[in-house]
Amino acid sequence: MIVCKFGGTSAADAAAIRRLVAIVAGRAEQRPLVVVSALAGALEALVRRHESVACELPGAEPAVGTVRADAEALRLWLSAALGRRLRPAEIDRLAGHGELWSSRLVAGAMAGAGMPSVWADIRPIMVTDDRFGRATPYVQVVNNRARECLRPLLEDALIPVTQGFIGATADAVPTTLGRGGSDFTAALLGAALAAGRVEIWTDVDGLMTADPRIVPAARTLAAASYEEAAELATFGARVLHPATAMPLVRAGIPIVVLNSTRPDSPGTTIEPSAELERMGDSPIRSISWKPGITVINVRAPRMLGAYGFLRTMFEVFERHEVVVDVLASGEVSVSLTVEDRSRLEPVIRELSELGDVWTEDRRAIVSVVGIGLRGTPGLASRIFAAVWPANVEVISQGASAINMTFVVREEDGPDVVRRLHQEFFGAS
Ligand code: ADP
Ligand code: ASP
Ligand code: MG
Repeated sequence: MIVCKFGGTSAADAAAIRRLVAIVAGRAEQRPLVVVSALAGALEALVRRHESVACELPGAEPAVGTVRADAEALRLWLSAALGRRLRPAEIDRLAGHGELWSSRLVAGAMAGAGMPSVWADIRPIMVTDDRFGRATPYVQVVNNRARECLRPLLEDALIPVTQGFIGATADAVPTTLGRGGSDFTAALLGAALAAGRVEIWTDVDGLMTADPRIVPAARTLAAASYEEAAELATFGARVLHPATAMPLVRAGIPIVVLNSTRPDSPGTTIEPSAELERMGDSPIRSISWKPGITVINVRAPRMLGAYGFLRTMFEVFERHEVVVDVLASGEVSVSLTVEDRSRLEPVIRELSELGDVWTEDRRAIVSVVGIGLRGTPGLASRIFAAVWPANVEVISQGASAINMTFVVREEDGPDVVRRLHQEFFGAS
């Protein structure tokens, strides 16, 4: 069997759903399981639309911060109008309707086209913890339930149509997996059902050398490794959820990223053997960026020669469940980046007990990714020469040595990405 996941734009209107139906019909012999996503809500759709328009307009990026803040204020105002603030559990219950409705539409449209489709509720299968808005699935339970509930349908030659992004706790309280979570749903189901491949149908030709909204000349990659895809996704390439590869690595199930408006284009295949694939004449595969980042600096002279300092520091982040993305450390100072500012205040208060703390917001992470980074000497100087004259902070290279990651001012991000693209791919 195969999994075919369709993102929001691939089910956006009647024409898109007709294309989707045709794509699945063409794969009927491969026993497809269809996973559909939707926009999380009208407000989010509105925010996203502003984000995407802003990306195409040099200088407009800072406006995105205002739009996001306004949207949050609007959400609070809306719930105040209902008499009180919506609880995260209630937000998840509301947000999940997009997927429940779109999957009904798609299942119906397939039946209308004479296909043996059957709507399947993912909620009793995708059992998660109760961290609303960013719930984590219990993989073992998901594996068992997916096999129990979905395999019989596939064996009956039916085409199940189910929902991405949403799940439920063991007590059947609805949850969501966080932005982009539908890709993760598809991967978990693909792993559970030992799929031949997991197809991610979206609005671009595949994984590209950069976000085409920033770099119009970006090229589509024929292949990438799981590791590269995960690094790119973690640092801003939203075409794939960062956790998508994780469930598929052990079984070596390929992920194929495809364009639902151009179903005949080959897309990008993400699989282990991509490690060996040549990347043309460039040592790198792709450049990603992520705005909305805050840098936290901690300077503590007593850190010199002391042990246990970093542990104490990271315990603060752990207690408040704040995710740290990039880390760089000197002798008596540490710089790290976070994306989520909502729980930052107590973190900073507690860190201040360890040393001097200062933060810098409106920053962006830029990440240059490629297996070719391993053992290509002189790349760092090429990268930083291309970045100039933008100011670079918090430089970091992971142990896997397939990415070079650093922080710039948010407003410099798009230009930095374009200059790097020009340097490594000869066009922007
Ligand atoms: P879907 O709704 O199908 O899940 P997303 O909006 O989540 O689609 O992801 C597709 C978008 O990802 C593209 O429109 C593109 O702008 C953006 N993107 C960012 N970086 C990349 C990249 N390196 N390659 C391809 N697309 C990228
Ligand atoms: N509505 C979901 C989201 O905003 C769809 C998806 O997971 O792709 O991410
Ligand atoms: Mg997506």
